[in-house]
Amino acid sequence: MPTYKTLGIVIRRRNINEADRMLTILTEEQGKVTVVAKGVRKTLSRLGGHLELFNLVNFVLAKGRSMDIVTGAVVERQRGEIAIDLDKVARASRFAELIDILVHDKEEHRKLFWLFEDCLNYLDRSKGANLVDLYFFINTLSYLGYLPELYECVKCRERLKEGNIGWSHGQGGVLCGDCLDEGIRTDVESIKLLRLLAEEEPSVVEQLNLSRELVQNVQEVLSGFVNFLSQRELKCDKFWKSLQVDLRNFADLG
Ligand SMILES: [Zn+2]
Repeated sequence: MPTYKTLGIVIRRRNINEADRMLTILTEEQGKVTVVAKGVRKTLSRLGGHLELFNLVNFVLAKGRSMDIVTGAVVERQRGEIAIDLDKVARASRFAELIDILVHDKEEHRKLFWLFEDCLNYLDRSKGANLVDLYFFINTLSYLGYLPELYECVKCRERLKEGNIGWSHGQGGVLCGDCLDEGIRTDVESIKLLRLLAEEEPSVVEQLNLSRELVQNVQEVLSGFVNFLSQRELKCDKFWKSLQVDLRNFADLG
């Protein structure tokens, strides 16, 4: 079996058979892949300890018929704090979930891979609340082509002015004062922070001193939008999967 090496981060694991695991990994070169790790739930497994969630791992994968197989794995960077902190695990899991939903299999997303790696590092080292989640979400959306509109009204295409503004999850961005009946209320400061998060380097974002209220407002808008997108993608995914089953049945009949 031909093998290949890649850096990767395990984003999901599932037990299968008696001692195997199915892993979903975001890799640097192959994008998102689902692979099998054989015998890793046995106590003496050589690989088992290297396949924890959220670590940066050097993988050796063998091309399998339906799924590739893990033949080697060495942890490059361990996230010790995420592993023992419930709040951090929950936040890292939301990063992983978003990737799992929005990234299609075997599509290369190198920039997203390094964004994920950097944000996990930051989360691992950081103390208390910070902007890393917002930074990760808005930039993930941007890299995958889902960046919401932050400058023009999504309905009438007027450039945003100061004053009352709104937000539409469905239309994907800001609404001007004349059109805000169709969305939820937000404010100019929140939109300015979203622009900053999407456009500036993490070092700039880190220096910001923001009120708790502003961060909460942005959190509400962004997590609402991420949830909306995720639900839509999940429905779309289910629709495609059921369509594939229908087509297979149709082919069987033929
Ligand atoms: Zn408008």
